Amino acid sequence: MIIVTNNEGHAGIATTAKLLAQGGTSLDAIEAGIRLVEADENVRTVGRGGWPNLLGEVELDASVMDGTTLRTGAVGALKGFLHPVSIARQVLEKLPHELLAGEGARRFAAEIGAEAGDLLMPHARTAWQRWFENEVTEGERERWPEVPMTDLCRRAIDPEIGRDTTIFIGQDKDDNIAAGTSTSGWGWKYPGRLGDSPIIGAGSYADTRYGACACTGVGEMSIRAGTARAVVLYMKMGMTVEEAVYEAVTDMRALKGGLIGRVTIHAIDPAGRHKVVAVNGLPENHYWIWQDGMEAPVSCPAEIIAISEDPTPKPTAHRRYEQMGL
Ligand code: ASP
Repeated sequence: MIIVTNNEGHAGIATTAKLLAQGGTSLDAIEAGIRLVEADENVRTVGRGGWPNLLGEVELDASVMDGTTLRTGAVGALKGFLHPVSIARQVLEKLPHELLAGEGARRFAAEIGAEAGDLLMPHARTAWQRWFENEVTEGERERWPEVPMTDLCRRAIDPEIGRDTTIFIGQDKDDNIAAGTSTSGWGWKYPGRLGDSPIIGAGSYADTRYGACACTGVGEMSIRAGTARAVVLYMKMGMTVEEAVYEAVTDMRALKGGLIGRVTIHAIDPAGRHKVVAVNGLPENHYWIWQDGMEAPVSCPAEIIAISEDPTPKPTAHRRYEQMGL
């Protein structure tokens, strides 16, 4: 069984499903599927083709978690490498650590011979350049990049708000449950900003005994609520997968201030049941699922639950952070 995000996971789910049907491990199948999403330049929120940060650089976050050993591997704010999910996997395989960020992640990627490449594609370069010319003052442009960025960050625009990270959560024929994530995060983010995707327990968590959960959308919310770990813990404490996800939605209602928008929570249990809820979501918030015996993955709508009066921005609208309550 495998569940993946919306449009973003589409490039990889067929491969993941095939590997699982052939008896591959959930971790291998998830890594293989996410690599295809990372390589797809049309996916503008993952890997090559993703949106850049305020400096015009694409910074990538990714993670994997093996729910049988509870080992994880993650990288954050990684620049210049095409497949962060595989580098995260090698953190799990080769290091006595769970998370590497920035320069250390880059160093490790080079050391293991990971594939380097240019991540900033022409559409993203043009969009960033346009922002730079329209939003940055002449004085700031002269001193660039040695300028204060806090206000620029607060006013910045994510050109595809409402589109997603890719997440994969799945179970193999031997019942091992695993999770994987990969993203370029928010466009125009402050350099070094980590979202929930590399933060195990926030953006993903997997435990073969109880289930898995992974989130997309406003990572700031799932970090604050500890969403992925909470959902798996709620299942451990006896809730069904549906009850556990609803409880995590209740947790999010307590978030006051900060960046509030849409979060999609995806969860599975060891019996093959699942639940996907888009908090402050939109009708287009779908996910893909493939289960043993299915010929091909199918797309299903997430349940939408609004938790704020002014919920998520429209995906086509260029919304400013300050309009979201910052
Ligand atoms: N969750 C991701 C992040 O906060 C973004 C997304 O899924 O759209 O970096």
